[in-house]
Amino acid sequence: MDIKSATFVISNTDVRKCPESSLPEYAFIGRSNVGKSSLINAITRKKQLAMTSQMPGKTLLINHFLINNEWHLVDLPGYGYARRSKDQRQELAKIIDSYIMMRKQLVNLFILVDIRHEPQAIDLEFINRMGEWGVPFSIVFTKHDKLSKSRADLNVEAYKKKLLEDWEELPPIFVTSSETKYGCSELLDYIEQLNKS
Ligand code: GDP
Repeated sequence: MDIKSATFVISNTDVRKCPESSLPEYAFIGRSNVGKSSLINAITRKKQLAMTSQMPGKTLLINHFLINNEWHLVDLPGYGYARRSKDQRQELAKIIDSYIMMRKQLVNLFILVDIRHEPQAIDLEFINRMGEWGVPFSIVFTKHDKLSKSRADLNVEAYKKKLLEDWEELPPIFVTSSETKYGCSELLDYIEQLNKS
C-alpha cells in the first residue's frame, strides 16, 4: 500500500469521543519506549505524525490519524508504566480496554514488542488477555536494526515458543525497524489485505 495522505484527526481519552466514522481502524499499542511513535512515523513516512516519547503528556491519549481517506490508524496509550501511580495505571487500563472492547471499527490491534528483550510478563499478560477476549491482533517486533540477523531470528523464535506454551496457534508476526524501514511495507500490505477482505 502506498501512503498518499496521513493526517491527524483527534486525540482524546474517551472511546465515546472517537470519530463517528465507519472507516476500518488499525490500532497500535505497546509499552512505553517500544518504538510505537517511531514506527507510526516510519510507515506513514511523516516524521512527526505521532509524537515520540520525548513529548510528555501525549501518552495518555487515543490518537486517530486518517490514512489515504480510507482507514484510521489509532495510536493507543502505552501500557505498563512502572513510574506511574496505581491509580494512573488503572485509569490508563480503563482507556485502553474500553477502546478495544467497544470500538466496533477496530479491525486489528498491532501489539508492539521490542525485539531485544526476552518475553516480558507485562506483554505476555496483555497478549493473553487479547487472545481470551477474541480480539484480532498481530505481534510486531520493533528495532530489528539493533540486533544481528541471527540474534533477531533467535529472539523471535524464543518468543513464538513462549506463546505456544499458552496458545495452539500463533498470531501473525511482523519484524520491523523504523530506522531501516525493514518490515514496514509488509505491515502496510497486511492492512491493505484486511481492508479488501
Ligand atoms: P514509544 O514510546 O513507543 O512511542 O517509542 P519511541 O518511538 O518514542 O521510541 C523510543 C526510543 O527508541 C527512541 O529513542 C527512538 O529513537 C528509538 N527507536 C524507536 N524505534 C527504533 C528502531 O526501529 N531502531 C532504533 N535503532 N531505534 C528506535
